Amino acid sequence: MAQERDQRMAMKSIYIMNGFLLTVHSCLFVFFLILNVNLMTYVNVVSVIFYAAGFLMLKAGRITSYILAVYFEIMIHMFLAVVSMGWDCGFQLYFICSIAIVFYADYFSVRLGHTHIQGAVLSIGCAATYFATYALTRSHPPFYAIDGRIMTAGHVINALVVFVFCTLFFRMLAHSALYYEVELAQQANYDKLTGLANRRHLLEYLKKEHEGKLLLEQWVAIMDIDDFKKVNDVYGHNCGDYVLQTIAGIISRYSGSFRTCRWGGEEFLVEGPCVPDGKPDYRLLENIRREVEQHQFLYEQQNLHLTITIGVAKYEDGMSLDEWIDAADKKLYKGKKSGKNRMVA
Ligand code: GH3
Ligand code: MG
Ligand code: MG
Repeated sequence: MAQERDQRMAMKSIYIMNGFLLTVHSCLFVFFLILNVNLMTYVNVVSVIFYAAGFLMLKAGRITSYILAVYFEIMIHMFLAVVSMGWDCGFQLYFICSIAIVFYADYFSVRLGHTHIQGAVLSIGCAATYFATYALTRSHPPFYAIDGRIMTAGHVINALVVFVFCTLFFRMLAHSALYYEVELAQQANYDKLTGLANRRHLLEYLKKEHEGKLLLEQWVAIMDIDDFKKVNDVYGHNCGDYVLQTIAGIISRYSGSFRTCRWGGEEFLVEGPCVPDGKPDYRLLENIRREVEQHQFLYEQQNLHLTITIGVAKYEDGMSLDEWIDAADKKLYKGKKSGKNRMVA
């Protein structure tokens, strides 16, 4: 699902990029037409057709060919623009910002499952064309003699386009890096099925609390769904998933500010502070157990009745984390042995 969404986002950005390049070349067409720079006017007619066709290429899924074609279009277009108008008009600036496009395209090509287009090699191509164009303009005058003020205006416009492009591009890059960081943290710390924290995430928290000697007057409870395997066997795995999600919902609703996680399989762990008389919060745990017992689980017109068994242990001074959780696990085992659907403290 997430991968599909990423691919949709990647495709959307490539479409936006194509639209941006189509707009830039349409403006350039008008610019060259007004200045009577015939060679570049024709070149831009071809470029506009090329970017309009780019949408079709993208629609056909020919991403790698599209990217390479765009690369060569930009290189040829800018080379001809610089030799036509001269270095002072600033078209060479696009060679520099093409490096951003090249790596962006390389990244998305791989992300969309297409060929690696060797961004480094293509960016060397940008630099080589830049210097070749520079050498040529030093030894040959431009094809078209343009008024100095227009040259200055052209330079300013080109520089502005490059600055705006770079700003938008790096802003988008920073945003997507942040987005993926949040997404990765979510995947690393939370259970996909239930949305609860996962075992690793809760253990990390408990380790810190343990090192800070902050666990006194804390309790930990392990909750295990009774005869859960039968749910899977009789009603199917999807029904089992529905039960896990529903019970996780009940636990998180009750445990509120307490720490909760999916401990593994059909087990959940809740950790919290004792009530003022120094005992674990039995009422909360009993309420969870009772709510599960009374809940009407309805899956594809089938009514299910489910219960949970809870083992709870208070932290005792000097205990390791493993010993503490093990103590709750032993109570859980006792609860299972003595008939299930109960809390053992
Ligand atoms: P008990 O009352 O003694 O706890 O018995 P039980 O059947 O609940 O426990 P058991 O350990 O025998 O079976 C747990 C089952 O949980 C086995 C496994 O296939 C199932 N399970 C573990 N994770 C998932 C999951 O993510 N989804 C589903 N549907 N089932 C799962
Ligand atoms: Mg179990
Ligand atoms: Mg079980």
